Amino acid sequence: MKYPFKIFRKREMHKITCSECDKEAEVPFRQKRGLQVYCQECFIKKSMQRKKEEKHKEEEEGINEEKT
Ligand SMILES: [Zn+2]
Repeated sequence: MKYPFKIFRKREMHKITCSECDKEAEVPFRQKRGLQVYCQECFIKKSMQRKKEEKHKEEEEGINEEKT
């Protein structure tokens, strides 16, 4: 997707501490209290993991057989 305006405003970066690896990282949003924030690396890892888990769940649901 392209932005209709040419002027690209620099996003304000905020320092966060990754909830996964405890590394400091900069993100374009503020860290909310009580919420887990991940650095880019861990964020990608997490989203990949979630996809795997979802797939696994689907497979498990397919196994359920009813005995009569
Ligand atoms: Zn991390």
